[in-house]
Amino acid sequence: MVLAELGGSISRALQQMSNATIIDEKVLNDCLNEITRALLQSDVQFKLVREMQTNIKKIVNLDDLAAGHNKRKIIQQAIFNELCKMLDPGKPSFTPKKGKPSVVMFVGLQGSGKTTTCTKYAYYHQKKGWKPALVCADTFRAGAFDQLKQNATKAKIPFYGSYMESDPVKIAVEGVERFKKENCDLIIVDTSGRHKQEVALFEEMRQVSEATKPDLVIFVMDSSIGQAAFDQAQAFKQSVAVGAVIVTKMDGHAKGGGALSAVAATKSPVIFIGTGEHMDEFEVFDVKPFVSRLLGMGDWSGFMDKIHDIVPMDQQPELLQKLSEGNFTLRIMYEQFHNILKMGPIGQVFSMLPGFSSELMPKGQEKESQAKIKRYMTMMDSMTDEELDSMNPKLMNESRMMRIGRGSGRQVREVVEMLEEYKRLAKIWSKMKGLKIPKKGEMSALSRNMNA
Ligand code: GDP
Repeated sequence: MVLAELGGSISRALQQMSNATIIDEKVLNDCLNEITRALLQSDVQFKLVREMQTNIKKIVNLDDLAAGHNKRKIIQQAIFNELCKMLDPGKPSFTPKKGKPSVVMFVGLQGSGKTTTCTKYAYYHQKKGWKPALVCADTFRAGAFDQLKQNATKAKIPFYGSYMESDPVKIAVEGVERFKKENCDLIIVDTSGRHKQEVALFEEMRQVSEATKPDLVIFVMDSSIGQAAFDQAQAFKQSVAVGAVIVTKMDGHAKGGGALSAVAATKSPVIFIGTGEHMDEFEVFDVKPFVSRLLGMGDWSGFMDKIHDIVPMDQQPELLQKLSEGNFTLRIMYEQFHNILKMGPIGQVFSMLPGFSSELMPKGQEKESQAKIKRYMTMMDSMTDEELDSMNPKLMNESRMMRIGRGSGRQVREVVEMLEEYKRLAKIWSKMKGLKIPKKGEMSALSRNMNA
């Protein structure tokens, strides 16, 4: 099951539970069984899933919950916590610092997406102000250097490699020295892909590591191997000091959930996930926001990270200011719809905006969602400035709704639907109220608070 589907199944199970009039043992069991099924389909280890189920039941003791407690919320929170626990290795990874040379070595099985991921990693950091460089120490696979060269050129990242030299250690050392002299602060060494049975190649990997003394060794792994990720990650960890993992191909494979939880079980932090073949289909992996997004709870940290991409530069300070004052007006909704429609492959962006993902824009229905947004925008075109900027929920009386419907050639019930959508989003976005407006570099601190 692709992760988006896993998220969808879990959200549906939670939604069904929310729809029940009373929450008793049966409703809870049905919900948990549904979630269990979804996790097993994603190749999460049976033992983990069962443990999770037991823990949730222990936490959510229906009899003990005093009347008035919000049981649904408690159950949802318990599921959220358990999923986070399952994916959290409990150990942070080394992060390179700007202006100080760091060497990061990439290792992994052949075909795992290592070379592609090296460039994605370099490109990601380049966009954030680092000065990265790529070294191709893969002398084993014909064409490896060409591939890296091509990717690096496209991303305008300096690279080093050789068609003639067959000693990967020599190339790696030369490349690292050269880029240190050129004041690059993130020197990325790509090594040959290997399999855990290939003793000679493992020895070679150890030698490259010894010679270049990397600050961080990243193990790249294809998510399609599911639970088998555990053995592979352990084998690599025994040979070199793996400090972080990147899981690739999370976009198309059924076993993503299994791979992620298996890696967590080896106590290695997953720092990024690959979500496509393109350079920017690469996401920071942070357990809490990831699970929030999986459960359709909205990913504030992803939003804060992506706000630069989604919202035009000149609108950003004003938007954040308004949101921090708790003013999510219809005009803001209109502007965000406008930004989203301008952005191209909308599915990816949708899931980044809290509240915009699961209900307004279900996965796989991008076209319908786009049409719906356009319809809403046409109705909003018939609104007055007062209506667009008002924070007074009583302002939108029947006669105003009728006028908007007439003006946009829509039924009143469609206007009501649009206003309901606005209310739903306003409720979610009201969480931004009272927050300090982040200065550059403070984004992640803010998002951590929001996800806490
Ligand atoms: P390497 O042998 O480990 O260096 O693997 P490559 O970087 O050559 O990648 C192998 C294949 O996987 C290529 O076709 C890549 O385009 C593809 N690939 C890499 N990462 C991803 C990803 O996150 N999603 C998808 N769908 N394909 C990927």
